[in-house]
Amino acid sequence: MLSIVLPCYNEEGNLRPVYRDIMESVPEDGDGLEVVFVDDGSSDGTFAVIEELSGQDPRVKGIRLSRNFGHQVALYAGLHEARGDRVVIMDADGQHPASMIPALIGKMSEGYDIVNTVRLETEGTGVVKKASSRWFYRLFNALSDVRIEPSAADFRIMNRKALDAFLSMEEHDRFTRGIIGWMGFRQATLEYRAPRRISGTSKYSFRKMRHFALDGITSFSSKPLRISAVFGLVVLFSGLIYLVYAVVMYFLGRTNPGWTSLLVTILILGGVQLLILGIVGEYLARIFHETKRRPHYFIQQRTGEEEQKKDQS
Ligand code: UDP
Ligand code: MG
Repeated sequence: MLSIVLPCYNEEGNLRPVYRDIMESVPEDGDGLEVVFVDDGSSDGTFAVIEELSGQDPRVKGIRLSRNFGHQVALYAGLHEARGDRVVIMDADGQHPASMIPALIGKMSEGYDIVNTVRLETEGTGVVKKASSRWFYRLFNALSDVRIEPSAADFRIMNRKALDAFLSMEEHDRFTRGIIGWMGFRQATLEYRAPRRISGTSKYSFRKMRHFALDGITSFSSKPLRISAVFGLVVLFSGLIYLVYAVVMYFLGRTNPGWTSLLVTILILGGVQLLILGIVGEYLARIFHETKRRPHYFIQQRTGEEEQKKDQS
């Protein structure tokens, strides 16, 4: 069976067209198909649309999370629900063309466990988003041992073996594309062109993007901590050299009032210390988060024939 998992956050206007696209693009080859919608705590009518679709089509099921847990956790929740032996993950806003799914399946049948995608370009993406994304992947690849293609997307197909490996990684601050890169197995990559989202605006606010970037770097690299130490040493040595210079100047009787240099030194040192504390704090916060061992998410409600049957039995 093939499962298709779509995390949705306030996507009520997009689910019907995306569902239609999937049904038109995915060949029913008798192996069975299921579409799993994950409503990530939407405040609009997203879940009502999912219920409507699952009422019309027994291949559709949905879960509603108890609040907005974020894209990466919603994906994890949906993948737990998927029963297929091959699973596609894609966005619910029409930016991941369902017409690519046969190509993903075809590539997988060449003997790959995971087929990833990278977008060639996205229509209607602002310069700021493009540039920040490019710089983020440069930084990520420089800092971590895992390599991610710039403009990688959370649009891919995995087989059961890869999916079970993915689900066994239970970290809380999830960075899906890093986890996939870290896992290994036989992976291939295809390219696609991303259209504009069908309706609504991006659900990745600046705050969510910053979180996503920090989760990515802190879960795949401890280099920022080591760079902090090196940075501290460099500042310390510069300070020592400056001290020698000041002493020499004192004996030469050429001491200046020196307020400027003093102030600059204090500001730089203060800044460096706060920066390093902040970096340590980011890691500490994640350790704190992880040690509480809370569940990743809660399911508030389910819809879909199969689930109702399960509840009755
Ligand atoms: N999404 C989600 N929870 C969130 C934010 C986003 O489930 O808190 C979903 C969203 O509905 C979409 C996918 O994640 O299906 C990608 O989000 P979006 O299209 O807003 O990101 P962009 O394409 O702008 O990077
Ligand atoms: Mg999108």
